[in-house]
Amino acid sequence: MQLTFFGAAGEVTGSQHLLETAERRILFDCGLFQGHRAEARAKNERFHCEPKNLDAVILSHAHIDHCGNLPGLFKAGFCGPVFCTPATADIAEIMLLDSAHIAAEDARYLRGRLRKGHPPIEPLYEERDVHELCKRFETIPYGEWHELAKDVRLRFHEAGHILGSAITELEILDGGEMKRVIFTGDLGRRSLPLLGDPVLIDNGCDVLITESTYGNKVHLPAENLKTELLRILKEAIAIQGRVVIPAFSLGRTQVLVYFLNELFNEGRLPQIPMFVDSPLSRKLTQVHREHQSTLDPEAQEQRGSDTDLFGFRGLTYVASPQESRALNDRKGPFLVIAASGMCESGRVVHHLRHAVGSERNTIVMLGYQAEYTLGRRLVERQPRVRIFDREIELRAKVEVLNGLSAHADAEDFKWWFGHLAKYGGIGKAFIVHGESTSAQAVAELLHDQCNEDPIIPQFKQSFTV
Ligand SMILES: [Zn+2]
Repeated sequence: MQLTFFGAAGEVTGSQHLLETAERRILFDCGLFQGHRAEARAKNERFHCEPKNLDAVILSHAHIDHCGNLPGLFKAGFCGPVFCTPATADIAEIMLLDSAHIAAEDARYLRGRLRKGHPPIEPLYEERDVHELCKRFETIPYGEWHELAKDVRLRFHEAGHILGSAITELEILDGGEMKRVIFTGDLGRRSLPLLGDPVLIDNGCDVLITESTYGNKVHLPAENLKTELLRILKEAIAIQGRVVIPAFSLGRTQVLVYFLNELFNEGRLPQIPMFVDSPLSRKLTQVHREHQSTLDPEAQEQRGSDTDLFGFRGLTYVASPQESRALNDRKGPFLVIAASGMCESGRVVHHLRHAVGSERNTIVMLGYQAEYTLGRRLVERQPRVRIFDREIELRAKVEVLNGLSAHADAEDFKWWFGHLAKYGGIGKAFIVHGESTSAQAVAELLHDQCNEDPIIPQFKQSFTV
């Protein structure tokens, strides 16, 4: 059996790993590389795995760095099934249509900058490619074995990372010998709101492919966030200010709304207007509603007395751009949650432009903000920030709340690997999806748990296992 790493090898995007036996060619994930425009485009345009020869793709979850190049794979000749959980199929369709829209905008932007004689720039894929690709989704609920062929079967388990995210357990016949392969996808955390904990796997494995994003960190607990939110809202009301929360449309927004909904049910939520201003967040929240039965036991208990965990009196999901713009001139205290997370694009930029200049207002920043983004400048509380080509004095209060990361930390990895090693053992381990320091930290955690030294593969590196 051969394993080759075509993405998320020594980096955190473009997840794509190929498993080959004499009979089968299976791809784990097919994500988009994200980063500088030209470099990302060059990487995303080319496949190294011969798409038309693949038997199947196994999709761990619907984040774009894991599913974002599936339509490109289809365009390049892939015609097999894509196995994923039912929630992942629903979320991936929405995320990929959004990605096709961004790709079209991107191509338009690049065309405007072309020199004479340059070949035309086409988007990586279009909406119709997404629709065709989505017809290839074959969904498997958590915990059920699915026989792909006589020599290979797979089963998904809750990964606790985002709705629908899965750890894959695969059994494949290789030269007459049955091998067990486990792919973590993105591993979640214990005790995150809404999602169940990552499932512990018994029976060990011959090959483990694990992510390592926060292998060198220990996260703060998420439950403090509810108390902090309440404090921030009360303070804002006391000075009649507005609260702006930039949040990713997938995951973070639903957790925030869920916390607010809990506070409402407990009778503790202050009565001010609240808005979720992102068409993408609205659609993704609807998918969360449709898959409420897969949420964690606490959420199930809430459902007993509350039919909608993502809605309460006073919360509005803003639809049109006009309604969104109207918020800019709104008087009095209110809360708005808007995409995107790093404040570089989307409706949140307008809300920030209208909020940063007044000491009455509060900006709530959640989690990591990449360098050179407006999000980072706000977290650093720079005295002036540039928004839409205008320098504005940062007079608003900036609150930084951590604890909402959806990735396993060092303690979670230790717990999860420990169980796998104890119940059946780990043969070879490959560490992907992490920068070198975090991948190295996970290698150290795995060192005593594996039969062989763990490997941090490089791009296009191949291994016989
Ligand atoms: Zn992810």
